[in-house]
Amino acid sequence: MARMSVFRFSALALLLLSACCWAYNEVGPSQEDDSAELSVSELLERANSNLIRSANDPILTEGDIAIASEDERNADPCTSQGCKWGKNSDGKVYVPYYITNHFSDREKAIITRGLESFSSFSCIRFRPSRSSDRDWLSIESQNGCYSFVGRRGGKQVVSLARRGCLYHGTVQHELLHALGFNHEQTRSDRDNHIKVLLQNVQSGMEHNFRKIATLNQGTPYDYNSVMQYHRTAFSKNNQPTMVPIPDPNVSFGNAKEMSRNDKARLNTLYKCCECPHEHIIKINIHIHMYSTLSLDLIPLCAVSLLQKNHFQMC
Ligand SMILES: [Zn+2]
Repeated sequence: MARMSVFRFSALALLLLSACCWAYNEVGPSQEDDSAELSVSELLERANSNLIRSANDPILTEGDIAIASEDERNADPCTSQGCKWGKNSDGKVYVPYYITNHFSDREKAIITRGLESFSSFSCIRFRPSRSSDRDWLSIESQNGCYSFVGRRGGKQVVSLARRGCLYHGTVQHELLHALGFNHEQTRSDRDNHIKVLLQNVQSGMEHNFRKIATLNQGTPYDYNSVMQYHRTAFSKNNQPTMVPIPDPNVSFGNAKEMSRNDKARLNTLYKCCECPHEHIIKINIHIHMYSTLSLDLIPLCAVSLLQKNHFQMC
């Protein structure tokens, strides 16, 4: 009888242990379903809230931007020093990455899908790193979701914690940081588009709403950017911390993946739409003609060049 009890106890312990390990190894369907309605901004805030950070973790600002020192809080390294990844002679920008073995196959597939999505709308090509690479992204499951802004030189960590960061839009968001982009609400021209209500911001979080010299690339302020935080981000009282101007009821901060402007801005920064001269087909066209076309039918490069009254195709 006693032997039977021991057996039952062992079997139960084994069952509990395997259930625990399964839960740790895979993001369960219920967690995925719970998150389906959340924007990238909400997912990031949820994943990064209440983290206990250690001395080995980088300093974070604006929720998920890693910085090497306090001096970097008020400067965008991309505008002060340059931060772009180099362009190859074939016109592509190859960004080496290494995915650490923290992740399950399913989690790796989410990350890879995010990396590969950039190939469909830009000249960015994330590719597996080689021993000869000088600079590369090390994609790891560290403490929360975060990335440095732009190319830093050498190995730089992009953290996508297994708990909370593994969604298509959050992967794109962190990769955009690594490519040189900041949050939409910190844009140099943001005061024309959103009003920041500091009285509703959690004490000590005010720095997250600082304004910096950002790389806007001539693109309009975009409420639907995957880099725009949501209405109550860092709120201490559930009241808005940001309100759109002039219409306070406009929806914003709800993006679940990169917007058209996010893609256009990326293409402009990396000059993805510029091709070898002999391959250019330049079509002069008046802007009013675009008004009759669905935006989806206009090539991305054309959108980024709309202000120049022509578009070009390679
Ligand atoms: Zn961010």
